[in-house]
Amino acid sequence: MPEQIALQKLPESCVTPEQLSLPDIDDVLAAAERIAPYVHRTPVLRSRTMDKALGAQLFFKCENFQRMGAFKFRGAMNALLRLSAQQRRAGVVCYSSGNHGQALAMAGSLLSVAVTVVMPADAPQAKITATAGYGARIVLFDRHTEDRMQLCEALVAEQGLSLIPPYDHPDVISGQGTAALELLQETGPLDALLVCLGGGGLLAGSLLVARHVAPHCRTFGVEPEAANDAQQSLRAGRIIRIEVPTTIADGAQTQSLGQYTFPIIARDVADIVTVSDDMLIKSMRFYAERMKMVVEPTGCLSLAGAQLLKEQLHGQRVGVIVSGGNVDLSRLGAYFA
Ligand SMILES: *Cc1c(COP(=O)(O)O)cnc(C)c1O
Repeated sequence: MPEQIALQKLPESCVTPEQLSLPDIDDVLAAAERIAPYVHRTPVLRSRTMDKALGAQLFFKCENFQRMGAFKFRGAMNALLRLSAQQRRAGVVCYSSGNHGQALAMAGSLLSVAVTVVMPADAPQAKITATAGYGARIVLFDRHTEDRMQLCEALVAEQGLSLIPPYDHPDVISGQGTAALELLQETGPLDALLVCLGGGGLLAGSLLVARHVAPHCRTFGVEPEAANDAQQSLRAGRIIRIEVPTTIADGAQTQSLGQYTFPIIARDVADIVTVSDDMLIKSMRFYAERMKMVVEPTGCLSLAGAQLLKEQLHGQRVGVIVSGGNVDLSRLGAYFA
């Protein structure tokens, strides 16, 4: 269990969730239309082997086949398309060294919006190269002496850039929700939906959809055992922040839910469950061996969660959102050794 370092209450100066205008299903529907010309409508795949193993019918929404390899492209694209012409001319900035940075870089290159990605100087060279390869300007910082948020705020203040956060933003959440929307449009009613969970953008977006399109569907968030801040937050009824967790699910190493994602999740989620890194590796192996696809560790959370909930899901129609497939191939062998 990670140590709980602070019971984070919103500072007085901050808006409270009641005052925040949360996105809803109309925002997701609008996002779907807005981003349709740019995103792949990813396939929904089945596996007789896994259906048999779980005694359920599973529908895998394969966002590992999304552009740049993860659903993050949806939220990034939606956020950029929502900017004014002037904001687009000025450019945007984000501080993610992972899929969000790459997604924003790619979306920016398609829309001719200048993208700045703030990354730690000791980030893997492969990630820096990939993000730069999509045409982003990379600003490196020393994570021991500099604060990435301060750096971003300085860029916003000095260069008029718009900050696009990886999950805690209504347009990002609405964009991410389009994956679950496509899934439900294709499968019809589902009894349960399993969603990988980091900062909660994908889960919150999926919940906005399920609430209206499939009100009887029970939607579960799945996070790594070592990164169970969302489960703790749900139980406590407020956002709980943890130390940077150690897990192979690097897309779920977030320290807390956000001001937008938390209230949506707390309102509608059926439960949040946690899985071990070993369970993620088993799911990764299953995807590779049986479904012939590469899924990154974070993308394996949802299937691992389905296996954990096997008893509850028996006989049900279950959606599994496979969130991404960006994995360092040189590491893949080590996982399976
Ligand atoms: C970012 C990411 C997640 C977690 O998404 P949140 O919106 O932060 O909860 C899950 N899987 C992959 C592949 C990701 O890139």
